[in-house]
Amino acid sequence: MNTEKSERLYRQAAELMPGGVNSPVRAFKSVGKHPVFIDRAEGSKLVDVDGNEYIDYVCSWGPNILGHSHPAVLEAVKRALNKGLTFGACHEGEIKLARLIQRHFPSMELLRLVSSGTEAVMSAIRVARGYTGRNKIVKFQGCYHGHCDALLVKAGSGLLTFSSPDSAGIPESFTEHTLLANYNDEASVQALFERYGEDIACVLVEPVAANMGVVPPKKGFLQFLRDITKKYHALLLFDEVITGFRLALGGAQEYYGITPDLTALGKIVGGGFPLAAYGGRREIMECVAPLGAVYQAGTLSGNPIAAAAGAETIMLLESAKNLYRGLDRKAEQIEAALRGKDILVNRAGSILTPFFTKEKVCSYHTALSADRAQYARFFSYLLENGVYIAPSQFEAMFLSSAHSDDDIERTCSIINNFT
Ligand SMILES: *Cc1c(COP(=O)(O)O)cnc(C)c1O
Repeated sequence: MNTEKSERLYRQAAELMPGGVNSPVRAFKSVGKHPVFIDRAEGSKLVDVDGNEYIDYVCSWGPNILGHSHPAVLEAVKRALNKGLTFGACHEGEIKLARLIQRHFPSMELLRLVSSGTEAVMSAIRVARGYTGRNKIVKFQGCYHGHCDALLVKAGSGLLTFSSPDSAGIPESFTEHTLLANYNDEASVQALFERYGEDIACVLVEPVAANMGVVPPKKGFLQFLRDITKKYHALLLFDEVITGFRLALGGAQEYYGITPDLTALGKIVGGGFPLAAYGGRREIMECVAPLGAVYQAGTLSGNPIAAAAGAETIMLLESAKNLYRGLDRKAEQIEAALRGKDILVNRAGSILTPFFTKEKVCSYHTALSADRAQYARFFSYLLENGVYIAPSQFEAMFLSSAHSDDDIERTCSIINNFT
């Protein structure tokens, strides 16, 4: 495989940006390589600057559920472009998108459009604190919710101690209100509520964890979170930035039939543009300025181009026949191929992770048992054979409606030949 141009661009990029990337997940550092630079993308394929073509299972980390450059989304964007790039004022496209979101997420009685998943979760937490008048939040080890200070915590020194930040540049005092629990471990949540219940504003959770690799919730786990938050008058905040419009049109809350108080959306909802949303019960969201005392704002929030791309994407998802069943079937085929090679797989609908471990992965702790060197070898093998997956063991593979049966068969036969 020739990657001469990518290597040249990488050297240039590394002079300009830390590690040559604008988001660390794009670096191939953890698989011991330099990133390939993408020239263009269409349907299920990425083409790099050296002309190598890949079947793409990263799908921009989730947004591209319809594949790359869907013609109808491009058309909607062009129509919006002709009317202007940003107004910093109200426009009808915001209403259109908000209605589409609400149709599938009825729990979001009032919602706000923002520009990134990070911003959506960060704002929702501020609302949870503002509404309840409480300080603490419960977060699960291995769940990622964007890079805001208080949430960059996953490895605390024990369950009931206050957690320390994962990143440099975050004062300990900024994370003192972040309580850590173990995913799929009800007792760990129970213990936190028994000790701090009066001061817990919300439980924040990825209803299907997808940032330590895919880790689905155990049966009853989400219902348990719903019940205990109710009991202690805390809020339940679903981070559906990945699962929203992915597991089902109505996300994990529809899929599992659990209604949270607050929801954060991102990725798919922006149709490939920087757009995200948060919202929840009307009385809670009425705390947000200008109605209430919780301040949150954004110059480009509800940007007309992004809103048009998001709305068109959701409408296409609505009108496609059997789209989710098709995604599920394709993901199942990939899963079967991986299992055929004795690779452990966690899957929820159209997201899955091959784990190089013998241990059943149901938590952060068990995810860490995976052999990253083996993953790196698998990654390199796939890349050289024209299959692009995340350059990290602790991410998901994403399927899109643009993946053809031929793409899936090719991918499966490449997996079959892995040694
Ligand atoms: C990607 C992601 C975020 C952050 O979204 P950005 O748009 O990258 O800021 C938050 N939560 C989850 C679950 C995510 O996967």
